[in-house]
Amino acid sequence: MASGYAIGRAVLMGAAALEVAHYRVASDAIDVEKNRLILALNQAREDLVSLIDDLPADAPRELAALMQVHMLLLDDPLLSDEALSLIEERQYNAEWALTTQGQLLVEQFNAMEDEYLRERSADVRQVVERILHALSGSSAKSRLDDVCQSDEPLIVVARDITPADMIRLRDAQFAGYVTELGGPTSHTAIVARSMGVPAVVAMSNARTVIRDGDYLILDGQQGAVIVNPPPLQKAHYETLAKRYQEKREKLLQLRDVPAHTLDGINIQLMANIELPDEVTLALSQGAQGIGLFRTEFLFMGRRDLPGEEEQFQAYQSVVRRMQGLPVTIRTLDVGADKSLDGEATVATNPAMGLRAIRYCLANPELFATQLRAILRASAFGHVRILIPMITNMAEAQATCQMINTVRDELKARGVAVGDNIEFGAMVEVPAMAIAIEPFAEFFDFLSIGTNDLIQYTLGVDRGDSDVSDLYDPLHPAVLRLLATVINAGQRLNKPVSVCGEMAGHSELTRLLLGLGLTQFSMHPRQLLDVKQEILKAHTNALRARLAVVLNQAQSIDPDYLLGL
Ligand code: PEP
Ligand code: MG
Repeated sequence: MASGYAIGRAVLMGAAALEVAHYRVASDAIDVEKNRLILALNQAREDLVSLIDDLPADAPRELAALMQVHMLLLDDPLLSDEALSLIEERQYNAEWALTTQGQLLVEQFNAMEDEYLRERSADVRQVVERILHALSGSSAKSRLDDVCQSDEPLIVVARDITPADMIRLRDAQFAGYVTELGGPTSHTAIVARSMGVPAVVAMSNARTVIRDGDYLILDGQQGAVIVNPPPLQKAHYETLAKRYQEKREKLLQLRDVPAHTLDGINIQLMANIELPDEVTLALSQGAQGIGLFRTEFLFMGRRDLPGEEEQFQAYQSVVRRMQGLPVTIRTLDVGADKSLDGEATVATNPAMGLRAIRYCLANPELFATQLRAILRASAFGHVRILIPMITNMAEAQATCQMINTVRDELKARGVAVGDNIEFGAMVEVPAMAIAIEPFAEFFDFLSIGTNDLIQYTLGVDRGDSDVSDLYDPLHPAVLRLLATVINAGQRLNKPVSVCGEMAGHSELTRLLLGLGLTQFSMHPRQLLDVKQEILKAHTNALRARLAVVLNQAQSIDPDYLLGL
């Protein structure tokens, strides 16, 4: 879940609807929007007619019949008229209206007993695709001007929202998200948090108990959703939301206060970002650097790959804006639940498959392009390269060699490259944490990715709501691995940070301080809550108390943490 409260109307969304832009058109732009859809329908009809006309004489008869079916669907008022009504009544943009209605028809066909009719759902999808294609040719005229700001907030309710969907939804200004799938550290939850809106994930029956247009209260603090609350409860939540906002504003006073513990230990607080524009938020919360730039989000939600120049611009803009503060750029971490668009995941167990550095080393061209872009950006500030999912020394060496080769090539061409680029590894596979010493010697710094470390240590899929109760950051095995890595870093004088979700949970701050952690990286919105905890903590006392519980077989009781 992501923090805060959202109060608004539910919008139920199917997968198809997620793949298009979402905005509500202003009242005086409704006719223009309806016209866009009508023109697109006409265009799609003309395309189909010419396809039918151009069919070769020897084409199978089924093909012609199928196209006639498409024509009937295209003209079916259940698709077109209803979509036009959604524009009129709900002020949806044409793409959103069309896919919403299309999904409804798909579901109706799917529910039919007759096999022939059931198969028509695929035809509905194809017809919707055809109309969408026509719509993409007529981009919404002055879209931003037409976007309606004043209406009631909307809350998306979906089975799942992939990270790529989230990227598409970033501009849509929804007030919150509810999903049926996902775990608390799934990428869906992480990206929802980066959008700065509350999200409740893993509410398995969400689309059964919530109907389109229901009034919802989303309590991101408790992970609760209230459907059609009575007026008193609504008023109560409006007060809570107001107080939450006031508390956030008050916390801003800590922005420039150094993060020192009571016994004078200096803690470095950095930000995790997914896209370059999040630097603004990171700076506004007093981040002392970017501890994790998840670059895969530049690659998602699109059909092509970003080239060297596009990536360079993105990295360079972050590096420049951080003005000499460290910027930790993590190389591409795709695979598992972060698949690139259009690439089917075929691995039987993607979390253990060709993911992250494994994927990059298997695709040297793509990797070299990214490394070139990062190295070029390093000339503009303090860049640290972070490698995800390193598991063995051979990967570490191969990566280091690639970086050196790319750097030499750039220098030979006279391209500027930074002098002090640091080379770091994510510690997120238990093997690496257990055998940490030689790895720590090899790298300049380490960053513990607790999201994956917990998943792989406990054998619990971080995105699977069925086992989310077993996903336990307080399991003694997890804590011992953290202690092992932090201690090794101290012995070998290599900086160690935590950049997984644990770092941003203020109720875990004292625990991490007690384990000796001095660098935290988290979502910018969590930074000041964590700083507040640091200012009240005494690390030596915490260390002594924690040493006792580390050897227990049981997970630490969350109540014990409160009393630490
Ligand atoms: C992690 O695994 O903790 C991490 C920070 O990386 P990601 O969440 O992107 O897998
Ligand atoms: Mg990870």
